[in-house]
Amino acid sequence: MDHKIIAALERISQAFRVLLWNESKELGLTPIQIQTLIFLRHHSVEKRKISYLATELGVTKATISETVKTLLEKALIGKEYDPQDSRSFVIRLTPEGKKIAKQTGFFAGHIEKPIGRLEDADKETLFKSLTGIVHHLNQAGVIGIQRMCFTCAYYAQDRDGTPHFCKLMNIPLRTQDLRIDCPEHAPLH
Ligand code: SF4
Repeated sequence: MDHKIIAALERISQAFRVLLWNESKELGLTPIQIQTLIFLRHHSVEKRKISYLATELGVTKATISETVKTLLEKALIGKEYDPQDSRSFVIRLTPEGKKIAKQTGFFAGHIEKPIGRLEDADKETLFKSLTGIVHHLNQAGVIGIQRMCFTCAYYAQDRDGTPHFCKLMNIPLRTQDLRIDCPEHAPLH
């Protein structure tokens, strides 16, 4: 059974690559350019920097610098320089970049459909299992930054009679409330 689950996850991963590639081809962009635009659309200003993007997308700074250069040439992004440090800048989407990021954000629609048909209890079990795998991969150093509850300084286990608790919002978290990309995430030191 373990091997069958791994084989199924591998197929799903392949499906993500194919769907992203199809989307990229239609727009004349590369998959990493599309992923960069989608990330910029959904994340706050302090995360829209070259080094953060490189870690987030699991590529080198040189690759992201090249991606940013091309997206600038295509006028899909712009730079905002730090007034205190002229070498430091954050990246923002242009109106055209926002349009493409919005359009391509649905590239995984074919994967969403079968998930949408699952019973709520099955979704919860699947989510719990997948977050456990993501957490393990993060702890093992296979994947980089994860803004999930399990790696957050505000997360507490087994508090106030609940298995999960957010100390920032001061509320218990049900399994379906656990986050995997939380804007308030504070990394553990
Ligand atoms: S701040 Fe966000 S990531 Fe951290 S425990 Fe609360 S909900 Fe989870």
